Amino acid sequence: MIVILLGPPGAGKGTQAAHIVAKYGIPQLSTGDMLRAAVAAKTPVGVQAKAIMDAGNLVSDQIVAAIVEERIEEDDCAPGFLLDGFPRTVVQAEMLDAMLEKKGRALDAVIELKVDEGALLDRLRTRIKETLARGDEPRKDDTEETFKKRLGVYREQTAPLIPYYRGQGKLKVVDGMGAVEAVSAEIDAILEKIGS
Ligand code: ADP
Repeated sequence: MIVILLGPPGAGKGTQAAHIVAKYGIPQLSTGDMLRAAVAAKTPVGVQAKAIMDAGNLVSDQIVAAIVEERIEEDDCAPGFLLDGFPRTVVQAEMLDAMLEKKGRALDAVIELKVDEGALLDRLRTRIKETLARGDEPRKDDTEETFKKRLGVYREQTAPLIPYYRGQGKLKVVDGMGAVEAVSAEIDAILEKIGS
């Protein structure tokens, strides 16, 4: 089962990804997490990506696609995988299609978490508070200003994926404004139809 989770920053992709991983036993491939790991390890990619990410901009399509391509060749991705944060541009979506075709695999579904944009800033404020309460440091790009920038980047560069995947007949829209469990239940209903 190959599934993409799509939605603006703060839509709840991370939360729902954790649910899908636990329930379906497929790995979560979060390009944001992979890039943050590269930044922390100061790899050449990390060194290049750091300033771009801190500013809320997108890392180049080529870099991100190369990271994903390498990752999906690992054994744990054989039964399937969940993409979170990739693709983020139509070019990346085309690169993913080509990658999967080359490997004789196909995308099963793209789940769009649809949220009311007005609620996103409130969610961000809660996320920052909770992170601080845990004694952790919030992400560098989790300031209100950078968040607004990321939202703009989403609207301009990532939202075009919605018609792209609708055109492929793969788009499934889920109401992301409900309680976490309600959103998970909607996702389950979609994934159960796909099976593994
Ligand atoms: P969010 O919580 O906003 O969904 P992520 O953790 O997925 O953010 O990503 C954080 C940052 O990492 C992005 O703002 C971007 O700079 C970079 N990034 C992650 N995935 C991609 C991608 N597919 N293409 C380009 N840049 C990416």
